[in-house]
Amino acid sequence: MPELVEAEITARALRRLIGARVRSVEILDPRVERSDELGRGLAAVVGQRLTGVHRLGKSVEVTCDDATVLRVRFGMSGRMVIDGRSAIGDLLYGPDDARTIWDRARLDTDRGAIAFNDPRRFGAIEVNPAPLVLGPDATTWTAGQTRALVGRRRPIKPLLLDQSVVAGLGNLAADEILWRIGLDPHQPAGDLGERARGRLADSTREVMAMLLERGGSHLGDLVGFRHSGALCPVDDTPLERSRISGRTAVWCPAHQRGAGELQ
Ligand SMILES: [Zn+2]
Repeated sequence: MPELVEAEITARALRRLIGARVRSVEILDPRVERSDELGRGLAAVVGQRLTGVHRLGKSVEVTCDDATVLRVRFGMSGRMVIDGRSAIGDLLYGPDDARTIWDRARLDTDRGAIAFNDPRRFGAIEVNPAPLVLGPDATTWTAGQTRALVGRRRPIKPLLLDQSVVAGLGNLAADEILWRIGLDPHQPAGDLGERARGRLADSTREVMAMLLERGGSHLGDLVGFRHSGALCPVDDTPLERSRISGRTAVWCPAHQRGAGELQ
């Protein structure tokens, strides 16, 4: 699933088209388009120049010179294809030759073609959407900003996925962050003291930097061990798979412990 890393890589690719003018818009799947409150859909950007590209958590926003904003939500499998090349590569979703079948919308500009390609169709492009309520970005989350966890009784894992607490994390990255510092994903967030929260913020930034460097949220060190029967690469203990708030957490019962025993 596209997370912060894929959104960031997509934003960098789209920035090459800043200054381009949109010549035409083609909607291939009406479900992809979310019109604004005035009923304006993607066609509103025809004739506009692209003036900015910003990543917000796991989404990307493109602004136009008349202030129209397009927010791309990647859903389960969405990706931007620019001049026939996927911004995030083809590792996750299948072969190149099926690619255009999954195109949901296309924008032709005077400097290149953009397609929103989404095999599973959970993604969308929103026109002039309401502002997102997001916490601090995961790439820059500081120890001080983790104070949002103080007093929270929910387990730490779902709070890492709560975009209003910290923006950009998905399931794979959250498991990787907790595994690296040896913190049990069931640990109530409010039990983390200042030192533990500092370690959590450090691990979050480190994992984000590593995944950006490697080029995908599926390229962490724990991801290859998510299948049943896998052993922890740190201590060869069988990894556990738990459902926490509806998401699968993969974790090590040997070295992922309470907040007081953080490594
Ligand atoms: Zn372990």
